[in-house]
Amino acid sequence: MPIMTNPTDSASPQTAPPTAVRTRIAPSPTGDPHVGTAYMALFNWAFAKHHGGQFVVRIEDTDAARSSSASETKIFDALRWLGLSWDEGPIVGGPAGPYRQSERLPIYREHVDQLIAAEQAFPCFCTSQRLDEMRSQQRERGETSGYDGACLGLGAAEVEQRIAAGESHVIRMRVPTEGDCEFRDELRGEISIPFTQIDMQVLLKADGFPTYHLAVVVDDHLMGITHVIRGEEWINSVPKHKLLYDYFGWPMPTLVHMPLLRNPDSSKLSKRKNPTSVTYYERAGYLPEALLNYLGTMGWSMPDEREIFSIQEMSEHFDLERVTLGGPIFDPVKLGWLNGQYLRSLSPEAFMQRVADWAINTDHLAPLVPLIQQRTERLADLAPQVDYLLGDRVALTAEAFAHKKMTPEQCVAALHHYSSALDELRIWDREVLVELAEGLAKHQELKLSEFLFPIFIALAGRSVALPVFDSMVFLGSDLTRVRLRDGLQLLGLSKKQTKKLDKAYLAYVQSTG
Ligand code: GLU
Repeated sequence: MPIMTNPTDSASPQTAPPTAVRTRIAPSPTGDPHVGTAYMALFNWAFAKHHGGQFVVRIEDTDAARSSSASETKIFDALRWLGLSWDEGPIVGGPAGPYRQSERLPIYREHVDQLIAAEQAFPCFCTSQRLDEMRSQQRERGETSGYDGACLGLGAAEVEQRIAAGESHVIRMRVPTEGDCEFRDELRGEISIPFTQIDMQVLLKADGFPTYHLAVVVDDHLMGITHVIRGEEWINSVPKHKLLYDYFGWPMPTLVHMPLLRNPDSSKLSKRKNPTSVTYYERAGYLPEALLNYLGTMGWSMPDEREIFSIQEMSEHFDLERVTLGGPIFDPVKLGWLNGQYLRSLSPEAFMQRVADWAINTDHLAPLVPLIQQRTERLADLAPQVDYLLGDRVALTAEAFAHKKMTPEQCVAALHHYSSALDELRIWDREVLVELAEGLAKHQELKLSEFLFPIFIALAGRSVALPVFDSMVFLGSDLTRVRLRDGLQLLGLSKKQTKKLDKAYLAYVQSTG
């Protein structure tokens, strides 16, 4: 096998013609629309608008098993609610489409074939069993795990014959065995990573879908993206991307890796500690301009350091020089303060309109009528019945979860397992909510009413309230799940207990097939 040298030595990248600034976000439609996605969307939008450029949305749905159109729709709804409109992408279209990666498979195939022809990529027939063995041996020897290049030695005739026989295979990229990959990040300067740390990445999976690394490079190039502004967790992937740009003879876009948002305790923002879904903030009564303003202060500040600014003002003054790298803390308490500033500055008419648009309107309230009408003697009975549905429930206490038959462990397990199940639900449907609860109650050997007790408390703060499944349907997925998680947090789960419960839940899921 010839030793490969750094391909930048030989290939001469084309010089890019001067183009307008084009930025993008590439969210994966695999769950709730994350505040991290809104954060990246805001910075990409502000940078593009500052330079009179375009902001593109591309859907990264290369993980066919985890992607869903429900999640994709939620991403678009969240961006629309925030008022971050995209110049090109799904729905609006554009000249560089399609903008869903699952609709671009022939493009990736064509590019990967080009790499194979140039011996910059190669088919790999290794089974997952062989790869597992390889990895465990590497671990035993204390080596960094990575593909050992077994299929690099296959002759052309054998490869052809195995492909013709329909043998399952992936396409991997070749990586130089010596030298360093050098690249520049606009916020960090020059970065150098030795090629020995870079794995021979799979580019095309056995199902014909590209991996992120192939798709991101091909699409950023073909879509004319000039600036890649994304989370810092992608820095270590840059060498793979740079190699691909060099193999194709394309110029690299400018790279900007933004700091990751963090919980108030400095850990990486996670839904176990804080609500992370944009839809939660919408349903909980935050204003989109307040959320965007708050995200705009994450690692960035206005030249005059004022705390309250619009995204138009942000884009007008946007300058990468003003980005700071320390992990910005996303603190819902601070966001609440800022939201209050926005709410209080509205005119009474505008305030009323916002309240109506949010939830106090006939459409939104109609589903409550059948629940409360039968339980009412006076109109004044309404408010105490729906307090937890229209606003927050009373403050939770650990004592509220005490039950005469259920042990605290059973309460915790019910909350944990039910919220884990709800996290995976793509469609918020009453029957499914009931089915999941029945399955889990049976698994825990509890009556359904017992199983639902801690759920009730977490949702309503009290054990007597409107029917629990109707309440959940009314509250919707985001508010329900956050309340269940809050309940769990209040009961004080340690990391170890969480791990144990996660494991138990996984075993339950596997047992139900
Ligand atoms: N799907 C990736 C993400 O959402 C995209 C990363 C990128 O922007 O290159 O984090």
